[in-house]
Amino acid sequence: MNTSPAMLHPELLAADDPHAIVREGRRLDHAEAASKPLRSRPEPQPRGAKVHGNRPIDQAEAAARFIAAPEHEKMHDERLWDLRQKRDREMHDIAEWEELRSLASAIKEHTLTHIDEYLEQFEANARSNGIHVHWARDAAEHNRTVHSILNDHGAKSLIKSKSMLTEECGFRPYMASVGIDVIETDLGERIQQLDNEDPSHVVVPAVHKLRTDVAEVFARTIGTDPANSDVHYLAEAQREATRPLILAADAGMTGCNFAVAETGTFVVCTNEGNADLSANVPKLHIASIGIEKIIPRLEHLAVFVRLLSRSALGSPVTQYTSHFRGPRDGGEMHIVLVDNGRSERLGLEEFWTSLKCIRCGACMNTCPVYRRSGGLSYGATYSGPIGLIIDPTFNQSKYSNLPFSSTLNGSCSNVCPVKINIHEQIYAWRRVLVEHHETPFAKRAEMKAAGELLSRPAAYRAAIAAANVALAHLPRWVIYNGLNAWGRHREAPQPPKQTFHSWYQANRGEKK
Ligand code: SF4
Repeated sequence: MNTSPAMLHPELLAADDPHAIVREGRRLDHAEAASKPLRSRPEPQPRGAKVHGNRPIDQAEAAARFIAAPEHEKMHDERLWDLRQKRDREMHDIAEWEELRSLASAIKEHTLTHIDEYLEQFEANARSNGIHVHWARDAAEHNRTVHSILNDHGAKSLIKSKSMLTEECGFRPYMASVGIDVIETDLGERIQQLDNEDPSHVVVPAVHKLRTDVAEVFARTIGTDPANSDVHYLAEAQREATRPLILAADAGMTGCNFAVAETGTFVVCTNEGNADLSANVPKLHIASIGIEKIIPRLEHLAVFVRLLSRSALGSPVTQYTSHFRGPRDGGEMHIVLVDNGRSERLGLEEFWTSLKCIRCGACMNTCPVYRRSGGLSYGATYSGPIGLIIDPTFNQSKYSNLPFSSTLNGSCSNVCPVKINIHEQIYAWRRVLVEHHETPFAKRAEMKAAGELLSRPAAYRAAIAAANVALAHLPRWVIYNGLNAWGRHREAPQPPKQTFHSWYQANRGEKK
C-alpha cells in the first residue's frame, strides 16, 4: 500500500518505516490512527436532496437513500449520538447549567428586542476601533460588497474560515463567477468544497462522510492515495496542500460567533485555529456578521462561551476563542453586517425567537430524524430541527415539506442552550403551511378526511373495527403496497382482540 510519505510532515514519519506514523516519538498503530482494515469496495456516499429550482424539497426521498447506505447511516447516527452524550456529561458537571441557559435566552431576547440600538452602538465603536463597517440588506448585497472591497485591493484569492452566513449567501459560487479563488481553511468545510457539496452540519460540515469518502475526494482533487483512508495521512495531506494557498492569499475572511456592542469587537470560536490564519496572514480581513450575532456587553460573552462548545461538541471550550478588535499593523479590517431576512423574521410573532440561535448544532445531534437521514437530505443551508424553523422563512414553498420531518419529541428544545422552543415552532409551521396551502394536495385531502372521521365517534369506531378485520385477514400484498407509505419501513401493528373503547364499555361503562 502506498502511503505517499512525501505527503506527511517529516516529524510524523518513523525513522525505520516510512509508512508508519509517529506521535511524540511513539509509533501509532492502526486503531489509534482510527483506521480499520480497508475494504476493497467502500460503500458509495449517498448524495443529498435533489433540488429543482423552487419546487418543494423531498427530504423523505433523500433520507430513504441515506438509510439505504447502512455504513453511512450507522456511522452518522453513532457519531452524533456520541456528541450528544458528551454534551450531557459536560452539562452535568455544571451545577448552574439551567441558570446559564435561562440567562443566555434572556440576553438574546433583550438584545433582539433592542437590536436597532445595539447595532448602532456596535457600528460606532467598531468604526472608532479603525474598522470599516458596511451594511447588506440581502445575500446579493453582501456578495457585491465583499467583491468591491476585494476589487479595491486588487485581490484575486481569498482564504476563509467556516461561516454559515456565507453559505446562506451563496458566496462561493458568486466569487467563482467573478473570478476570485476562495479557499476554505476549516478541514471539514474544505472537504465539502473539494467535493462540491454544501456543509451537512453547522459545526461538523463533513460529518456525513466516511473516511473512505474523504480518501476518494482527496485522491481526486489533491492526488493522495485513494486506497489510504488513514485520518492522519489525510489531514496531513490536506494541510500540506492548503498551507501554500493560505500563505499566498490576497485577503482573508471570517464569520463571527458574537459581536459585542459596547466594545465594537467580535469573537470567532474554532477548533483548528483556521480563523486566525484567515484573519492574520493576509493584510486584508473581512468579517461577515449576521445582525443577530450582537450581544450588548463583554460580560455577556462568558455566558455564551460556556454554553457553546459544551452544547456543540461536548468539550468545555473551543480550542481558539479569538477576539478581533481592529486591523493589524499596516492592514485593513472590514465588517459586513448582514440582514438577509432577519428583520422580517424578527416580525414573525411565532418564529422570531429562532434568531436566538448560536449555531451550536446540539438540536441536530439529538434529533432522531437528522441522525438517520444526514444534513444534505434537507436540501437547504440549515438542516435538522433549527433548519426546519429557519428555512421556511427564506422560501415557504421550497421548504414546505421540512417541518414535517420531525417526530416532535421535544429533545431539540431540551438541549438548546438558548432555550428556543424548537419543536413548538416546528408544529406551528405545519399549521401555517396548511393555512397557506403549501402542503401537497394528497396530504391536505388525507388530513381533511381524518378530521371528518375523528369528529364522528360512531364512524371512527366503525372504521377502526373494519381496519382491524382487514389487518387480520387481508393478504399482505393488499396492505403493503406502493400506496401505503407507512408500511414501506414498518410493520403495521397487530390488531388487538378488544379495543380500549369496547373494554371500557364492558368494564366501566353504564350497565344496561
Ligand atoms: S437552535 Fe439551539 S440547539 Fe439548535 S443550533 Fe441553534 S442554539 Fe444550537
